[in-house]
Amino acid sequence: MGFISISINKYVEKHLINNPFENEMDLRKRLDSAIEAYQNGVRCSCGNDIWVVGSASLGNSCFTCITGESHPNEDFEIDLAIKKRERARRDSRIYRK
Ligand SMILES: [Zn+2]
Repeated sequence: MGFISISINKYVEKHLINNPFENEMDLRKRLDSAIEAYQNGVRCSCGNDIWVVGSASLGNSCFTCITGESHPNEDFEIDLAIKKRERARRDSRIYRK
């Protein structure tokens, strides 16, 4: 369970195989702006961190609001967004001690 970390380049490659009519430049632009939003602390309307992969296609929302599922199960997330998630979790644990 959880997100599978993937680099932007690898994700773009996979996405274009599954969506052959997608424009690569356009996809990259949308991914970049979703990552930027994520790193700027933009959140879903429900308060969760946004899911970059889904937000690139559907607007800035979290995994649950986009898919209707409570937890990711072998869904992709861009590695840059996962790294920040892990760091945030570690920081909050230190803070609690
Ligand atoms: Zn949400």
